[in-house]
Amino acid sequence: MPISLSAPAPVKAPAATHCPYCALQCGMNVAAGAPEEGADRTVTITPREDVPANAGGLCQKGWTAGELLTGGRRLTTPLLHGEPASWDEALDFVAARIRALQAEHGPDGVAVFGGGGLTNEKAYLLGKFARMVLRTSQIDYNGRFCMSSAAAASNRAFGMDRGLPFPITDLAAADAVLLAGGNMAETMPPFVRHLAAMRQNGGSLIVTDPRLTATARQADLHLQPTPGTDLALALGLLHLAIAEGHADEAYVAERTNGFDAVRTSVAAWWPERVERITGVPVSQMRRAVAILGNARRAVILTGRGVEQHAKGTDTVTAFINLALALGLPGRPGSGYGCVTGQGNGQGGREHGQKADQLPGYRKIDDPAAREHVARVWGIDPDDLPGPGRSAYELLDALGTAGGPRGLLLFGSNPVISAPRAGHVAERLRSLDLLVVSDLVLSETAALADVVLPSAQWAEEEGTMTNLEGRVLLRRRALPPPAGVRTDLEILQALAVRLGGPVPGGPDMARAFSTEPREVFDELRRASAGGVADYAGITYERIAAETGVFWPCPDTGHPGTPRPFLDRFATPDGRARFVPVDHRPPGEDVDEEYPLYLTTGRVLAHYQSGAQTRRIDALNAVVDETFVELHPDLAERLEAAPGQTLRVISRRGETEGVVRVNPAIRADTVFMPFHWAGANLLTNPELDPVSRMPEFKVCAVRLERVG
Ligand code: SF4
Repeated sequence: MPISLSAPAPVKAPAATHCPYCALQCGMNVAAGAPEEGADRTVTITPREDVPANAGGLCQKGWTAGELLTGGRRLTTPLLHGEPASWDEALDFVAARIRALQAEHGPDGVAVFGGGGLTNEKAYLLGKFARMVLRTSQIDYNGRFCMSSAAAASNRAFGMDRGLPFPITDLAAADAVLLAGGNMAETMPPFVRHLAAMRQNGGSLIVTDPRLTATARQADLHLQPTPGTDLALALGLLHLAIAEGHADEAYVAERTNGFDAVRTSVAAWWPERVERITGVPVSQMRRAVAILGNARRAVILTGRGVEQHAKGTDTVTAFINLALALGLPGRPGSGYGCVTGQGNGQGGREHGQKADQLPGYRKIDDPAAREHVARVWGIDPDDLPGPGRSAYELLDALGTAGGPRGLLLFGSNPVISAPRAGHVAERLRSLDLLVVSDLVLSETAALADVVLPSAQWAEEEGTMTNLEGRVLLRRRALPPPAGVRTDLEILQALAVRLGGPVPGGPDMARAFSTEPREVFDELRRASAGGVADYAGITYERIAAETGVFWPCPDTGHPGTPRPFLDRFATPDGRARFVPVDHRPPGEDVDEEYPLYLTTGRVLAHYQSGAQTRRIDALNAVVDETFVELHPDLAERLEAAPGQTLRVISRRGETEGVVRVNPAIRADTVFMPFHWAGANLLTNPELDPVSRMPEFKVCAVRLERVG
């Protein structure tokens, strides 16, 4: 039975917690009423005023999030080959299959895939489980598909990857913001308040996007590049900034290295050449540079639109080079930031579920890092595996000769969210063992040998790190339904069944606590001294201070809202310019596939839609995928709104209902990725540094159906 949001009086004081969805992690109060006989429990959600990111606002995803906590949408019993099973039957089966597969194929015969929505505690324990119990190197997570290019570019420029290295409220005081490839009006609407406040204070908003999105409509200047050409645009903006005297030579000399090489490398990117490649008029580029160059305080932000490419790291680097030349990073009220997408996209990439990483943002091939983490875990550093495959490479290797034969998957739905998704589904089907922990029967869970029903969000405690690098506390508002276990309980149960790496080694029940607070305290020790140092952050502090910014090395430390004010996190404290050059997309248009496809989100749905597509109020807004095209293109194809078109790429085909919109380029079509379809088409070509697939541009053709 659906939830009542207008609800009888709650029986319990509301829990001050945070939204289950995006990286803004809006604060909300969740109150749960008692179930009436024969009916469901009720959940009431109200926004919190004390959380700066949303300050009393929520989007419709947040307002309706309580529906997931009620009703018949949830899994409440383990499934073994599609049939209900007891927890012992399911877990015993999983442990026995893991043992058999690893005996035959070695430790890497079993892989782990995590998610950017998992709490810090879950992400940490998942990484520990993979390395310490399975001893597999084969672990990565869906955050690789989210902001890995921005992370890689920030690490090489600043020595640290913290999405926004300043509080979000700083935006209101900026004189100019350049937002490259982000659409917050649809993805995280309360974010727009900060941009609106900036504009009310006299600041200017510049948006680059191939579509005139809801966010671009609010901009003072919208640059509309051809998909796949953002890197050329950033090079052209830097060329102009230098040519027109906006480079901050004193800042460059004092705080950076490598400017001369970048200055030389952009010399050939004169504006007319950039216009030819990007389609952005020279006059608009000049105006953008004048706005940024004349601002006292300016911020450059990147989003998935410029990051999810096979050259995403270089594109973000080009925008960071522009920010550095203008003297922005590390200046109060100015800077560069990446707008992280997934709920714990920031924390999820810090504590060890990435293929090359140990907790605290440590590198797994760094002997000192291995020594430190092994000591916290009570094992020999030599027992820690090395780096493994990145997310798409891991999915692509499943079931192949030399690839993993089993996969444990937590909080992810790659059948919808991975590029070339039809191929990924085939690889998942080829496995000898697929285990999925999820709260609903997602498209990926439907393929699993074993499905483990897990608790979610307001049913358990844990910490999340939002897009500002602010560590937040999710409080439990109500117990999980009968029959459901937390991911921490699942990991402990498997660890106990599988045992440790050496006989007589750590007691697995103690090594894998089911208490989030105990796991967090261990995470603090494991992260101590790392780049993402949480050692001084406690649940009590988070509650008292409405979040604590990392790095925070000890409990007396105030946290670090603006980490780059005095120095960058590089060995010499200086930021690094890195020369980069434009290259075309991995797959350009041609006669056979004459249109660009770009993908993105809609306001009412989140990521793969596993949660939001089960919420009636959100489906009432939009409940099917669509193909958005320009009126000229629609006329050429004789396609009218509401008709169905087939969209075909070299990797697959799908169908979508036509939406005609003059706000998109005539050479480009758009599909949302919340439904099966868009990612059947996308190109899995990978960025050489971040291993990010090229989600945002591929070549397609359209055919009328019937
Ligand atoms: Fe806030 Fe994002 Fe949740 Fe919307 S989805 S309420 S923007 S955290």
